[in-house]
Amino acid sequence: MTKLRAAFHTLGCKTNHYETDALCRQFCQAGFIQVSFDSEADVYLVNTCTVTGEAGRKSRQMLRRARRNNPSAIVVALGCHAELHDVSDCADIAVGTNGKGQVLRQILDLLHRRGLPAPADHFSGQADGTTGATGTAGATSLAAYEELGPADRQSETRAYIKVEDGCNSFCAYCVIPFARGRVRSRSCENIIEEAAALASAGYREVVLTGIHICSYGAEYGLPSHAVMELAQEMAAIPGIERIRLGSLEPLSLTPRFIELARQNPKLLPHFHLSLQSGSDTVLARMNRRYQTREYRGIVGRLRQSFDQPGLTTDVIVGFPGETETEHQASLEFCREIGFTRLHVFRFSSRSGTAAASMPDPVGPQTINRRSQEMLALAGHLAAAFHSRQIGRSQRVLLEKLRPDGYFEGYTPEYVPILLPASPGLSEGQIVSVTGLRSDENFLVCGNANASLS
Ligand code: SF4
Repeated sequence: MTKLRAAFHTLGCKTNHYETDALCRQFCQAGFIQVSFDSEADVYLVNTCTVTGEAGRKSRQMLRRARRNNPSAIVVALGCHAELHDVSDCADIAVGTNGKGQVLRQILDLLHRRGLPAPADHFSGQADGTTGATGTAGATSLAAYEELGPADRQSETRAYIKVEDGCNSFCAYCVIPFARGRVRSRSCENIIEEAAALASAGYREVVLTGIHICSYGAEYGLPSHAVMELAQEMAAIPGIERIRLGSLEPLSLTPRFIELARQNPKLLPHFHLSLQSGSDTVLARMNRRYQTREYRGIVGRLRQSFDQPGLTTDVIVGFPGETETEHQASLEFCREIGFTRLHVFRFSSRSGTAAASMPDPVGPQTINRRSQEMLALAGHLAAAFHSRQIGRSQRVLLEKLRPDGYFEGYTPEYVPILLPASPGLSEGQIVSVTGLRSDENFLVCGNANASLS
């Protein structure tokens, strides 16, 4: 029998990508074959994002593209945008941020009702999840962690492992707690089991990911360093050589957290410490629970504990009411901290959040100019940090061989590197390199041949 074809597209964060990988594995085990999104498939699954208005627009665009690719296919909208918005105009099935584990059964049910042959061994009658293509708002807030099973990675050399879902913080601009619900932690056994399986499959670097990973175990009263205890267990798994952490909330980096990080020989010295604004008055309006003084103190402790740690962050420009003075304060604070990489976001009003009804919106031209200024600073800071890596010996994971004959990879501090290909080098190896020259995008390295791992 001809196999049914499933195509996947993911928008948004690493957590979404992880979930799509897990679903892909489920579908392949159920007898589907995965095909590219641009080809003709029987089922298209789009894991949507709603973090900005633009992300929502692109999500719908991909759903419509799927319909054009094969008008008779089943089009499925998954994830945050589908959780909060009616997508019945462009999808046959909508599953929000919970219930993704049921989507295979829903598709098999719909195939059956359409008279198409489903992969027989796995068809088990009527699906019991949501089958209408409407939003599923509210369903996630009381849900338990939904285990989707291990993710199936196609070619990555770095593996993401989801440890939790949801967020309890309700920052004024953020729709995530509405879309993903409250914190639910994955079982430690399942996380460690997946890490061990990844190590057996040859993955040497894992990234702990989630919506708010420092909330791992929070629903059971665990402190923020619980995720570091998890990283300790992971470090004991043979084959795992490097552990990275996803985005961190500043106040979670308690002295105990930093101490556990310092003691873990496999934890890489890269901390993505969410800032959002370097102005205290804007931080207060954003409902962020720290001030720049506290943030500065945490960065100081990290720098005492690690030699030149990579410090990356997210910053929003144009939050409602942001004055020129506040914007300049934000720029100045970012300059003072000396971030090694800055992700700049233009404020995007999300319906249902506190910020959506705040007065004094910042005009698009001003947002644009402030974004350009923040991006220029980001480039300057990155170039300065990269240049300080010249002459340092670094261990890098070779992640991708480019057509121009250079490997791409990252230093432990998350500096992107380029290394000329040479005999004996291949993707997935961890090698020692030395930085030779740099710009704001890359550190160009050499000398790997002498010290292959
Ligand atoms: S901490 Fe704030 S910004 Fe981050 S997901 Fe939670 S609500 Fe959103």
